Formats: sequence, C-alpha cells, structure tokens
Amino acid sequence: MASGSCACRYIRYTTTTPPADPVYCHCIECRKQSGAPYQVWLDFPKDAIKWNVELSVWRSSETASRSFCPRCGSTMTMSLDKEPSTTAVAAGTLDIESEHLVRGPGMHIFYKEKAAWYVAPDDGSRKFDGWSE
Ligand SMILES: [Zn+2]
Ligand SMILES: [Zn+2]
Repeated sequence: MASGSCACRYIRYTTTTPPADPVYCHCIECRKQSGAPYQVWLDFPKDAIKWNVELSVWRSSETASRSFCPRCGSTMTMSLDKEPSTTAVAAGTLDIESEHLVRGPGMHIFYKEKAAWYVAPDDGSRKFDGWSE
C-alpha cells in the first residue's frame, strides 16, 4: 500500500493499509522535534507497518515515545501509551508514489500552542485547542 523512508533511506517501511487523515500537531514537542511550525502525523494500525530495521526510540514525554533514524536523524514515528495499537508516522517520510493515499483536509491539534508566527490556511480542516475530543 504505502511506502516511505527516512532522508538517508536507511530506514524503510511499507504498509498494508492506507493512512488515516493527516493530523497537524502544533504541540511544543512536535515543533521542537520537527524543527518546523508543526509535525504532520498519519495514523496506521501498528500491525499494518513493516519496518526494515528496528527503530531507535526515545521517550519524549510521560505519555509518548518517538523514533528516529540513528544515521540521519529523521523523525519516523510517535506512539502514545494510551493507544498501543496505533503508530503515527511522520507524513513527510512517505515516498512520492504514496502521496496520493493521503486524504485531507485533516485536522490541527494543540492549535492553541501553535507558533505565534504561523497561521494555518483556511482549507476546511478542523482545529482543536488540544486533543481532538
Ligand atoms: Zn536515515
Ligand atoms: Zn505534537
């Protein structure tokens, strides 16, 4: 179905399902970790993703862990303790051939924490102050 990789291609993955709608997260952890005004996540069932190597994971908060490429530093995933059967994959890691699988407009979460200099486009996406209820 979908495929993707880190920037240096050391980490590669394929999925057996299409991604859920994109989630634009404006929380400070996503901002710091992505180096961008927000991180875009695509949820997949954990079992639907096949990785070519074991992911390097770090504990990013009391409720979540994130993974990255140990060679190039690309962010790969985020997993919430409360949703162990779901893996959020960084949308930018998708291969170009898989981009058509992403359906919008998606939703913005933790919009209340967004960078003061950034305003999301009025594209019909829903915006939530924190988690989407
Ligand atoms: Zn890499
Ligand atoms: Zn976040």
